[in-house]
Amino acid sequence: MAIEKFEAGKQFAAHLTATDPLGSYRDRFHIPKKRDGSHAVYLCGHSLGLQPKSARAYVEQEMKDWEQLGVEGHFQARNPWMPYHELLTASTARLVGAKPDEVVVMNSLTVNLHLLMATFYRPSTERHKILIETNAFPSDRYAVASQIRFHGYDPADSLIEMSPRAGETNIRIEDIEALGQAEGERIALILFPGVNYYSGQAFDCDRITKAGHAKGCVVGFDMAHGAGNLALKLHEWDVDFAAWCSYKYLNSGPGGIAGCFVNERHARDTGLTRFAGWWGHDKESRFRMGPDFQAIASAEGWQLSNPSILALAALRASMDIFDEAGMDRLRAKSERLTGYLEYLLKQNGSNRFQPVTSSDPAQRGAQLSLRISTNGRKVCDQLAGAGIICDWREPDIMRVAPVPLYNSFMDVYCFAEEFFRAIGS
Ligand SMILES: *Cc1c(COP(=O)(O)O)cnc(C)c1O
Repeated sequence: MAIEKFEAGKQFAAHLTATDPLGSYRDRFHIPKKRDGSHAVYLCGHSLGLQPKSARAYVEQEMKDWEQLGVEGHFQARNPWMPYHELLTASTARLVGAKPDEVVVMNSLTVNLHLLMATFYRPSTERHKILIETNAFPSDRYAVASQIRFHGYDPADSLIEMSPRAGETNIRIEDIEALGQAEGERIALILFPGVNYYSGQAFDCDRITKAGHAKGCVVGFDMAHGAGNLALKLHEWDVDFAAWCSYKYLNSGPGGIAGCFVNERHARDTGLTRFAGWWGHDKESRFRMGPDFQAIASAEGWQLSNPSILALAALRASMDIFDEAGMDRLRAKSERLTGYLEYLLKQNGSNRFQPVTSSDPAQRGAQLSLRISTNGRKVCDQLAGAGIICDWREPDIMRVAPVPLYNSFMDVYCFAEEFFRAIGS
């Protein structure tokens, strides 16, 4: 993509906003309001996505069917609850670049990571290590360390945490490859994020997967910040497994139901070791209630329980919008929107902040993280007071995420204006 020339000034922001081909999608979402009733500038979709206006009707349909049908709703609801999760399969597969039998929505993210590791982390004396990054999201680190202990190993020996080079904020892909080359034969599992939650670095999942597979490692990804943000190709990249939450870029609401990818090479193998539950049992014979588990020969075979229909309904509202807009178009807008934010920030000579997210569009998603060494939290609070919603991560990072579905170029402009005021004061 040719690098677009941006201009400073509010008029140019208005021009970009008026000519944005995806601009109308903003009207499909509830934008939080400031005290005076005007719209806030919401740049926090990396933490909790906004509510699609259609979500209420999707949820109310199920409330109504429950009210009127009781248990019969499992088969007689307008969208029968028994196979309700299947309504999300096609759109989820499109979103992450998977085949339909490679994806399932279920549980929450950390739960899914554990369930997938129950299958895909099978340590042996020769090969027991897990490779993650030093600044992994705490829940992921807790999960892998506890898996290592569960198998009788010690994280001090079995957990490799990879850091950027001294003085750098992003991990270089060639360093990941070199580590794979040197240590790969002892690594059972590589678990990397699609996008690091803190630095905003997007990783080259294709190359990481190839490097891991070359040494016989299983390669999984936490796509919490990747799903709905990047144009993923999980099948083509030959990723072994992935999991993500849906309340961030996927707008499913607080605590919404999560997603999983299991490569069809594994998904079809009903003999794989797993933690089983009745919802993963072969659909034809599930209600014979027999004693022996027979896995569904797809990602659905990792399901445990019948899922929350209300949570699925809210997610459907958002996934239908993603299907309409298309991830490729959203990613194209996202690159422009984040590029415009970066451009505006560069107009200011202040040395009170430094972007830590890569300046290479291929190595970032919708988020720019700004390091503010002194009084950063005050800056963030001051912005919040002015109705600009970002977030603060200790010790010194402000995360700003212009989301292509509902943020406008004008949002980005208003943020920059208020940010410069706050940083100058
Ligand atoms: C948001 C996030 C989580 C949150 O985990 P839940 O199980 O959904 O509470 C975990 N890991 C990463 C990388 C995240 O970004």
